Amino acid sequence: MDFGLTEEQKMVQDMARNFAEKEIAPFVEEDEENHYYRREILSKMGDLGLLGWSIPEEYGGNGMGWLEAVTALYEIAKVHTSWRLAISGNCWGPAMTINEWGTEEQKAKYIPALISGEAVGSFAITEANSGSDVGSMKTFAADKGDHWLLNGSKMWISGGHVSDTGLVYAVTKEGGGAKGLSCFIIDYNNTPGIERIPITKKVGMWPAPTSELVFENAVVPKENLLGPQDKGFQICMWMLNNTRMGCATGSAALAAACLEGATNYANERTQFGQPIGKFQMIQQQIAEMKLEDDAAKFLVYRAAWLKENKLPSQQATSMAKLAGCNAAVHSANMAMKLYGSYGYSTEYPCGRWLRDAKQFETLEGTSNIHMGIIAGIELGYQPNR
Ligand SMILES: Cc1cc2nc3c(=O)[nH]c(=O)nc-3n(C[C@H](O)[C@H](O)[C@H](O)COP(=O)(O)OP(=O)(O)OC[C@H]3O[C@@H](n4cnc5c(N)ncnc54)[C@H](O)[C@@H]3O)c2cc1C
Repeated sequence: MDFGLTEEQKMVQDMARNFAEKEIAPFVEEDEENHYYRREILSKMGDLGLLGWSIPEEYGGNGMGWLEAVTALYEIAKVHTSWRLAISGNCWGPAMTINEWGTEEQKAKYIPALISGEAVGSFAITEANSGSDVGSMKTFAADKGDHWLLNGSKMWISGGHVSDTGLVYAVTKEGGGAKGLSCFIIDYNNTPGIERIPITKKVGMWPAPTSELVFENAVVPKENLLGPQDKGFQICMWMLNNTRMGCATGSAALAAACLEGATNYANERTQFGQPIGKFQMIQQQIAEMKLEDDAAKFLVYRAAWLKENKLPSQQATSMAKLAGCNAAVHSANMAMKLYGSYGYSTEYPCGRWLRDAKQFETLEGTSNIHMGIIAGIELGYQPNR
């Protein structure tokens, strides 16, 4: 067993770290304050090949896989969690899913722009009354012979109102539940009948756009059905098993950012004539954070390794996501306490860390849902895919 990075992985790590420090770090506080989505960061990521993991080179892929991808995403998310979404929203969501389930025409038409950063990607599953229970969605795609007619709405869609190419899951067989869903590729710039409404009132992730999408007789070309009709649930679960790595890696990275900040602060801040890091209770906080953060990171790499080797990874992915989420929320909470009053000041990042950490308890499967997956597989109630 090798815990080290290969030379190529070290290069990826350096490149992503330099990119994050140069292109993302200078704007973190400004974009946070203005809730501003800096679109050009996505293009620059595409230029550097940071969006093309596990995608064939003929469609613009970078020739590298899961271990390199999580290494890069970790460095980016450590600087600003919001930008982890670029890799999930473009590569692991639509591009990878089209690559797995799409026709040659669909692959050639949609993947290159997602990988180059020319297009903003998204995927839309959640609705106002359908979250964890994906099979209960109501958005309906009616077969009109030469096209599909889409009606309904989606909620909480990352990148929804800035997206060029997205996947939308909809019902194609009434009353079919999970067995009656299909997946569609939506070309947002050329599909009339879609209203896209930014969700502005959210606790964190301020520079990352989130949206409501309303479909009113939206005409979707026949050829934009992705994969077999009524197999949308299967495609969705396959996709989530990939995109959840964005949450797993992003949360582990956020936890590491909290630890790094807290460690520096504990060494700089003096009280009672010595750095606060010398107090045993502060050391306990640092020790707990270090333990959880490293455990989360190792679980991310294990899940990535399983995926790279095409082995069942669902349980490992859920474990990585849950451990990362717990580490991020706990570490952000600890960091805020450790910084004292300064932690409560918006001049320090503790508030942002805590706001951003809380997202991970909900999106791409709540913590309860992931505990259910982990236990369900362990108990033999469901297969580990
Ligand atoms: C910032 C952000 C970005 C998002 N981006 C996207 C996106 O890009 N695309 C997309 O489709 N969605 C997105 N979502 C939506 C997200 O995936 C859902 O919110 C999530 O799946 C949970 O659904 P819900 O909010 O309806 O909660 P519910 O499913 O209503 O859950 C409410 C509570 O009940 C619990 N619960 C539900 N079912 C069970 C059960 N079986 N066992 C135990 N407890 C249960 C949950 O754990 C939770 O505590 C995003 C959400 C946020 C906050």
